[in-house]
Amino acid sequence: MAYVCAHCGKKIKQLDQFVRCSYCGSRVLVKARPNLSREISTD
Ligand SMILES: [Zn+2]
Repeated sequence: MAYVCAHCGKKIKQLDQFVRCSYCGSRVLVKARPNLSREISTD
């Protein structure tokens, strides 16, 4: 499962336990979702 840095948006594959972003150093990571557009649009 891939993770994405919530700060810079870089993808982080390696996630052992407490992996921080190697780009900006942020520890805030969010799970990368297959479909980012979860917005409900019934139009
Ligand atoms: Zn980052």
